[in-house]
Amino acid sequence: MNIVLMGLPGAGKGTQAARIVQELKIPHISTGDMFRLAVSEETPLGLEAKSYMDKGQLVPDRVTIGIVRDRLNKDDCSSGFLLDGFPRTVPQAIALDELLQEMSRKIDAIIYIEVEQDELLRRLTGRRICRDCGATYHVVFSPPEKQDVCDHCGGELYQRNDDRDETVAKRLEVNVKGLQDLIKYYEPTGRLQRIDGKQSIENVTKEILSQLRGVQT
Ligand SMILES: [Zn+2]
Repeated sequence: MNIVLMGLPGAGKGTQAARIVQELKIPHISTGDMFRLAVSEETPLGLEAKSYMDKGQLVPDRVTIGIVRDRLNKDDCSSGFLLDGFPRTVPQAIALDELLQEMSRKIDAIIYIEVEQDELLRRLTGRRICRDCGATYHVVFSPPEKQDVCDHCGGELYQRNDDRDETVAKRLEVNVKGLQDLIKYYEPTGRLQRIDGKQSIENVTKEILSQLRGVQT
């Protein structure tokens, strides 16, 4: 089964991806891993991508889609794959459809883990780190016994700059637009499955797997 997994940062995409691929025995293809592999194998496209990344520039879609093509042509994808972090934009989604058509394949399911932005903000800004021993906590999911104090060493807990409200809100904002456009592109295809990501991790997995069982491949 060929799956695209979508969701904003903090929606639990990584966790669910790991569970889905284990259950369906298909490879988990994240954009980061795919790029790292292409660069380490020194494929022509990998080297080209690296030249952009080294300059801090965005890798053009032509290169990215080429890397996706190389990856999907590998043997482990013959019975399916789960794409995570790709496509990010509508032009990439169109290119992916064309690429799969070329390969006589298609996307069977698009899973969108839906979580409201307020909740994402709460999840993404809750991390606290111990100044002394580096232990990490989360004010909602794994709070210390005493507020702002490390359970292990009594050190002071702090919030990283990356985790502050304004920074996280900005990071979400950047992602929201692209995601909304993708949803508009995929919704009419009838392959988009919306999953309520506010449920427990276990229930989200259950719902995804039960949706996938109903998909005709
Ligand atoms: Zn500590």
